[in-house]
Amino acid sequence: MPRDLKYDVVIVGLGPAGSSLAYLLKDSGLKVAGIEVAGPERVWGKPCGDAIGKGHFLETGLPLPKEPALMQVVNAVDIYSPSEEVRLRLAEPNGGFMIDRNKYGFQLVEEAQKSGVDIYLRTHALKPIIEDGKLAGVYAKQHGEEESAIRFYANIVVDATGSGGAIKRKLPPDWPVVEPLKPTDSAVAFRKIVEVDYDIEEPDVIRIYINENIAPGGYWWLFPKGKRIANIGIGVQRGRGFPHPRELYTKYLDARPDTGRVVRVLNEAGALLPTRRPANTIVWDNFISIGDNAYTVNPIHGGGMGYAMTAAMYAAKTIKSAFEIGDFTVNTLWQANTGYMRTTGAKQAGLDILRIYLQTLTNEEVEWAMRNGVASVESLMETSISGEMKKLNITALEKAKLLVRMLGRPTKLLELLTVGEYMSRVKKLYLQYPEKPEELPKWVDKVESLYKEFKAKIGVDW
Ligand SMILES: Cc1cc2nc3c(=O)[nH]c(=O)nc-3n(C[C@H](O)[C@H](O)[C@H](O)COP(=O)(O)OP(=O)(O)OC[C@H]3O[C@@H](n4cnc5c(N)ncnc54)[C@H](O)[C@@H]3O)c2cc1C
Repeated sequence: MPRDLKYDVVIVGLGPAGSSLAYLLKDSGLKVAGIEVAGPERVWGKPCGDAIGKGHFLETGLPLPKEPALMQVVNAVDIYSPSEEVRLRLAEPNGGFMIDRNKYGFQLVEEAQKSGVDIYLRTHALKPIIEDGKLAGVYAKQHGEEESAIRFYANIVVDATGSGGAIKRKLPPDWPVVEPLKPTDSAVAFRKIVEVDYDIEEPDVIRIYINENIAPGGYWWLFPKGKRIANIGIGVQRGRGFPHPRELYTKYLDARPDTGRVVRVLNEAGALLPTRRPANTIVWDNFISIGDNAYTVNPIHGGGMGYAMTAAMYAAKTIKSAFEIGDFTVNTLWQANTGYMRTTGAKQAGLDILRIYLQTLTNEEVEWAMRNGVASVESLMETSISGEMKKLNITALEKAKLLVRMLGRPTKLLELLTVGEYMSRVKKLYLQYPEKPEELPKWVDKVESLYKEFKAKIGVDW
């Protein structure tokens, strides 16, 4: 017989999204359970590049990583052109961190637990409990010496299980919160954490390399974690028949004089990540979804830890006010949507337009754009902060027109102005995210038509 437990809130999955929420609810006075299938040594165990901006901690109030969870302060990001001859340096002293995910994540979980959140590790949530058409909790199996089944009943169930969406994908398919991920709106990324046999120059600079041969539809990276340890990986767009990044890693990165000089591989693994705008709604009756399964990620670089924390912050505020008034329907939980969508979500949607466009460019076009200053350091910084592209180098675009005339063939670079226009338009739509659930279908139609129109304009059929 399964054991029945009753909570106010049950959080399923204790990765960046779930453990941030557990931490943010720790002093709420609510009865909260956190369920995680992994054991303590695998908390935040999903493979990752391990890089995160400082701003996310400041925004959400989560603790800044400290040693030993903090492995390296990041002072700049270098972006390399396909030939690697052009480098753009986005410098922001003390702007980010390379972390040990397990150590940082476990710290959050432990602090939440100390303040009264019940943590169930090695506990696998199998499915939602739906009673009289209403989400009432989750059904889970606890692994240990003896396997035991537990029914966790709760007023609010939070799915924070990452891209697998263990609970969300088993909800009734007609609930608007169930929104499948299109393969081309996601990537598969593979990374190794390695010890190299040389001192990495400027370990406080993380490097991103754009090259459609090594990382089709994505990029590859080298992120130092100190002088001798690096997180090196490749992200590749899914759904277009590109090779798996593990294969590309062996072919290209194992063979390079820098990434191939490895003494020891400390860990290697790959995983899927969404790279799109946020899900149309992250809440429904008695339900909230945050992190990768709500598609709260940066579509350009695939960074999802920071936005998972932001989504957890809006979820925590919403949960507290839902308990104040004792209403757990979509109407009350909706404020998590308006909170997230009109801020981070709007920026994310703008960047999603840019992401789709960037995935159409060839090495030659990227090289030309970077050499000729189409994308300057200043414009890149501004775009990454706002999700809009206001500081385009028009003179450089004029030169691109000249190039077209000289070479007699079209270049996608001329479409940059269109991209800028659609980024602003989609951002505006997100700033007008509906006030009430009834208005959602109409709004979704507008967003989808805008994307369709944009894709048709730049010739994208995927
Ligand atoms: C190779 C790679 C590199 C990346 N690099 C970066 C980077 O440098 N910076 C960055 O910010 N982001 C990066 N990302 C993205 C980032 O890893 C994710 O966005 C982030 O981990 C999402 O957090 P999450 O909590 O939503 O999901 P996850 O990290 O996937 O956590 C979900 C948790 O739920 C648990 N779980 C799953 N199913 C169940 C179940 N049924 N029952 C109980 N528990 C369950 C899992 O064990 C896991 O602990 C990268 C991703 C990949 C794949």
